[in-house]
Amino acid sequence: MFQTRTFLLKYGEIFLKGKNRYVFEDILVDQVRRAVAKCDGEFKVHKSLSRIYVEALSDFDYDELIDTLKCVFGVIAICPVLVLEDNGFDDLKEQVVKYIDETYEDKNFTFKVFSKRARKNYPVNSMEMNCLIGEAILNAYPEVKVDVHKPEVSLYVEVRERIYVYSIIIPGPGGMPVGSAGKAMLLLSGGLDSPVAGYMIAKRGVKLDAIYFHAPPYTSERAKQKVVDLGTLISRYTGPIRLNVINFTEIQMAIYEKCPPDELTIIMRRYMMRIAEQIGLENDCIGLVTGESIGQVASQTMQSLACTNDVCTIPVYRPLIAFDKQDIVDIAEKINTYETSILPFEDCCTIWVAQHPVTKPVVKVIAKHEENLADCIDEMLKKAVEEREIIEIK
Ligand code: ATP
Ligand code: MG
Repeated sequence: MFQTRTFLLKYGEIFLKGKNRYVFEDILVDQVRRAVAKCDGEFKVHKSLSRIYVEALSDFDYDELIDTLKCVFGVIAICPVLVLEDNGFDDLKEQVVKYIDETYEDKNFTFKVFSKRARKNYPVNSMEMNCLIGEAILNAYPEVKVDVHKPEVSLYVEVRERIYVYSIIIPGPGGMPVGSAGKAMLLLSGGLDSPVAGYMIAKRGVKLDAIYFHAPPYTSERAKQKVVDLGTLISRYTGPIRLNVINFTEIQMAIYEKCPPDELTIIMRRYMMRIAEQIGLENDCIGLVTGESIGQVASQTMQSLACTNDVCTIPVYRPLIAFDKQDIVDIAEKINTYETSILPFEDCCTIWVAQHPVTKPVVKVIAKHEENLADCIDEMLKKAVEEREIIEIK
């Protein structure tokens, strides 16, 4: 099998950026460094002529490295490459033939050579390289065939300061590197939806803080741990997350005692949004993120969403807004949060849920009923924010 220590990373949308493209590239390099730092072994990550290379400087675990790079947003392809010094064209042909042998045990395939001469003083031009390297492969392995239209194997030979040969292209996650957009506050519960929502927003380059509303003793330490575990699972993609844990019991009890039972959930959700926005703004977040999707439950009808939205002054991003549950489950499985999300620990929303919650709440009516809390709520909000626990998910 072909073994290498060098990986070429290709990036996608960053290419569309104009003059400040290098800013995005540098963020991507940082994100790659952060990711590989968690792998066994020592690595050098560097940028050269619109390419990012990861080079292993010690023994390393191939599968672990590939799995890690597959979680770095901004990367569209990971290519294990053969790196050659320029020892003349005959040597290059020989090395490429050997590369084909080591990479493909079964030689029954069609191929095409894509050569690129970034260094124009190389004596053979790209067209000639395509023909002559192709010929060398055909001579060595009679079973292989050329197909210039739909090759099964695309073999890339790039002459730069050194020569890079590759044909294996492992898809990356795409998206934009985390840190290239702003920061947002994710309302992270122990459910299925919010971790997926966080993953999706981070994929567009948004850095995440998170907030969880905990209601001890009604919700257990295990329920909280589940949220930490979900945060840890998505941090493979999002990078470190600062998780704010709010003790929400007192506020919830007050709502329960003083507001109409069918409006409990919606009022509770409004206080969650207010607290999330306040802490978010104190921490440079310019948006909130939730796992809501139209019509999924009573608190997510369009009327309910309008009531929840009404208390926010910064944008609320709801990446799952038009997703069916199954679409969400599919992503949860892909990012490995599904098994944790379905663990049956109680959630503060389910404990106080009304028998018949309103499905078409009216903002004015809800706001009116919130006035029942006027004598105590400010103090409670202040306390909840001040006494929050902060957990750094690395
Ligand atoms: P999820 O699966 O994400 O828990 P859900 O379908 O259970 O969502 P709701 O309970 O109505 O829906 O919550 C809607 C959104 O509100 C969640 O996706 C999440 O962003 C936020 N949220 C709900 N409960 C909490 C909580 N205890 N802490 C933090 N955020 C929460
Ligand atoms: Mg929930």
